[in-house]
Amino acid sequence: MIIAIDGPAGAGKSTVSRAVADALGATYLDSGAMYRVVAFKTLSGSDAASAARSTLIGLGEKVTADGVDVTSLIRTPEVTARASEIAALPLVREALVEQQRKLLHDGRSWVAEGRDIGTVVAPDADLKIYLTASEDERAKRRAHEHGLDTAEVQAAQAERDRRDATRDYSPLKAAEDAVEVDTTGMSIEQVVAKISELARAATSPA
Ligand code: C5P
Repeated sequence: MIIAIDGPAGAGKSTVSRAVADALGATYLDSGAMYRVVAFKTLSGSDAASAARSTLIGLGEKVTADGVDVTSLIRTPEVTARASEIAALPLVREALVEQQRKLLHDGRSWVAEGRDIGTVVAPDADLKIYLTASEDERAKRRAHEHGLDTAEVQAAQAERDRRDATRDYSPLKAAEDAVEVDTTGMSIEQVVAKISELARAATSPA
């Protein structure tokens, strides 16, 4: 079983995807963490495409790059901005998408979040969710979570969304067969319940 959860920054994808994976007994794939690891490596001089091909990325409780714990290092504003830049490079995407496809087809059940899971990485997913929320609410949630200024978060987020949605290669967009879930005004619990329900319906035998 593969559940794909795509959408713009700050829509709640990580929290929701983790919780849905727990509820369904599935493994959680944070594809954004892979782009972040590559971005992090380029900040110390690595070539992005080479880093995407050769870095051994460990995902789980901790995110590791060639065995080194980078869990918090990949969440800085600098890495966040760089991630959406290197994510526009075809060679980077090819290398990471190949790794993501291998994971998702290893026989386990997965809940995978990102920008292109339903459109490119796993068009065969059993359920595709496009998670959104108003720009205002997404910025407020992020600012609250990280103790930052809402206006600054909103400006950085709008720039990242613009880059993600307008790149030539695998831009952020909802798959044609995705169910769009607008989480504005919904609690995490409500969103998790809704998606878990949709997942059960999509994967239960007819
Ligand atoms: O989801 P997260 O904010 O951690 O992703 C960081 C960046 O990685 C995004 O802004 C996006 O540019 C890129 N990304 C992507 N495709 C994915 C996941 C993330 O392009 N499947």
